Amino acid sequence: MESASDPLAGLGEDRDWTTEVSRAALQRKRAAGPCEACGVTDWRVAPDVVVVSALDPVGRFVSGRGFDAVAVYCRHCGLLRLHAASVLFRDP
Ligand SMILES: [Zn+2]
Repeated sequence: MESASDPLAGLGEDRDWTTEVSRAALQRKRAAGPCEACGVTDWRVAPDVVVVSALDPVGRFVSGRGFDAVAVYCRHCGLLRLHAASVLFRDP
């Protein structure tokens, strides 16, 4: 059985659900205020969790190293933010 105790196990499988879970987490963490660049509050949560991969000193992809992130961008100016999923979805 797939880790039924992990409430985030389904992230990425249902894009609408992922977006809503991410949006709720951003609100809970008070990370949905005005854009740091333009001052407008009009964020869009990307429907996919992204992976930020690690590179070795010569720029090669390092398998298994990096982190999952929630991408959020300002619909007014395009500022892009990445929130580490392991922190964003952690309680409280
Ligand atoms: Zn902005």
